[in-house]
Amino acid sequence: MNTTLEAPRLTAHDRCDRCGAQAYVKVVLTAGGELMFCAHHARAHASALEPIADQVIDETDRLHAKPELVED
Ligand SMILES: [Zn+2]
Repeated sequence: MNTTLEAPRLTAHDRCDRCGAQAYVKVVLTAGGELMFCAHHARAHASALEPIADQVIDETDRLHAKPELVED
């Protein structure tokens, strides 16, 4: 198991809690727990999530990036 150097990365295995699409935003709640959202639902729920989110990991930039090489 590789360790990540910085914030946890979202992967293709992470799915939006609302629609099941690939998640690009992870919300860590101040009350505990995590939510995953696709870019669409992250925007849709942003105002509701902001007051209860401890940390938001937004990787929606990757939607516009070239696919990354996967290292084994
Ligand atoms: Zn979604």
